[in-house]
Amino acid sequence: MKLLMHMCCGPCSCYPLERLRAEGVEPTGYFFNPNIHPYEEWRRRLNAARMFAEKVGLELIVDNHYGLREFLSRVLPLVNDDDTIKNPDGHHARCRVCYAWRLGATAEYASTHGFDAFTSTLLYSRHQNHDVIRSIGETFARRFDVEFRYEDWREGWQRGIDLSIELGLYRQNYCGCIFSEEERFSSELRKRRKKFFRSLHSDEP
Ligand code: SF4
Repeated sequence: MKLLMHMCCGPCSCYPLERLRAEGVEPTGYFFNPNIHPYEEWRRRLNAARMFAEKVGLELIVDNHYGLREFLSRVLPLVNDDDTIKNPDGHHARCRVCYAWRLGATAEYASTHGFDAFTSTLLYSRHQNHDVIRSIGETFARRFDVEFRYEDWREGWQRGIDLSIELGLYRQNYCGCIFSEEERFSSELRKRRKKFFRSLHSDEP
């Protein structure tokens, strides 16, 4: 099987590649992540993906699109206070748009370059929503007439971390967009989120 593997970053690619190779599949990596901001962070993650590919002998295709303005114009209509707080599984309205942009580009590239299937290392992350990714992947599979290979690589979470440390890869500490950076580090947002979830589970009127 000729498989195109969308890579969200180097560390998240470690375990999926190990699993695929154990199953006799040699994927080609595809880096397209215009959701990562600011620019220096995007460059660090791209360099980590390149370093990973070089160290493990993986063929890597890079789409150099940084895409800050386009990303914001796509997601800003969906970003409001509710979207920041109401995310019980880490999935925000904007994430659908973000997944769709990246998976759509991957499916199109796979279809136009002779691949049988595509997948994404987003499926390794415990912080992403698998149901949404799967449904978007399958939609693009039909549209571009190329298979979407769904995998649940979350069971290798710790193994992936260990491999990325062994390889000396840069490990980011937020998802990618500027909103996720705020949600990761802002104590004010953390407090508001806790309050919101307490109110959901409270029996009080
Ligand atoms: S939180 Fe992550 S998946 Fe969601 S929009 Fe931001 S970068 Fe994309």
